[in-house]
Amino acid sequence: MLNSKIWLLPVLALLLQAGNGCRRNEVPPSVDGAAAIDLAARLVAFGKRCSGTEAYRRQADFIAAEAKAAGAEVVFQDFIQQTVKGEILFRNIIAEVKGRSRQFVIVSAHCDVKDLGDSNFEGANDGASGTALLLEMMQAIKRTGEKPPVTVRFVFFDGEECMVAYSERDGLFGSSYYADRMSAEEQRQCLGVINVDMIGDRDLHVTIPQNSDDRLSELALEGAEESGLDTYFSRSPQVILDDHVQFLKKGIPAVNLIDFNYGEANSYWHTDADAMDKISGKSLEIVGEVVFFMIWNVKK
Ligand SMILES: [Zn+2]
Repeated sequence: MLNSKIWLLPVLALLLQAGNGCRRNEVPPSVDGAAAIDLAARLVAFGKRCSGTEAYRRQADFIAAEAKAAGAEVVFQDFIQQTVKGEILFRNIIAEVKGRSRQFVIVSAHCDVKDLGDSNFEGANDGASGTALLLEMMQAIKRTGEKPPVTVRFVFFDGEECMVAYSERDGLFGSSYYADRMSAEEQRQCLGVINVDMIGDRDLHVTIPQNSDDRLSELALEGAEESGLDTYFSRSPQVILDDHVQFLKKGIPAVNLIDFNYGEANSYWHTDADAMDKISGKSLEIVGEVVFFMIWNVKK
């Protein structure tokens, strides 16, 4: 009797330790809204980051440097493509944060801005908001000092915006190129794609378009509910053409988190009004919280 009690204690200690091991990472990191909005301002300061421009390349270097500083492995995916405006050199940026599992989630955003000619279009929301959120999410993971439960591949797409009108040959260039080149092994290991676009609006309401993976859409709503953020998220009957579509075409589950009502009747969209004063760190924080919930719970 005495003996069994003596060895029971270390066994109990081991069991407790194992329990802690499982719980260690259960609480996802938090996005710092002030840091995220600061990043958005720094992106906007590069000027018109249209595909193929010097401003775009300088921004790409900045994104790569920030991602590396956060501990991500970074590669550029360059490709030249014929467009309705001639040949353009595109550059996707892929930044991977290793997790405890080789299985991975893609969290993506487009970092190009629409070419609106002579206008002063900044693309604070449509371009910078998603990009800034991804960069701050990497920092947030780094702050925890621990690996996420699954690998997170942050992908910054070039060429989301079309030159003239969306077609097989115009728009979604970066995501199309990226999805086409995923190996069979990568497609097997990929747990899903979470694309964010126009998520900085001060008056935030993310509407998940109908052409999104059902399970991932539910997971987003569950995350919102759990965090008391459900008033900011809903499903929409709308079909939206965005980078997530290229993955759905390949049979990879993908969801688009977008607030496609920016200003009254979407009046700020693709206009000079899409500037820093229309977006807020609080909105980036809200969306970041839900995306982190999704990453932390996608395997359960
Ligand atoms: Zn746009």
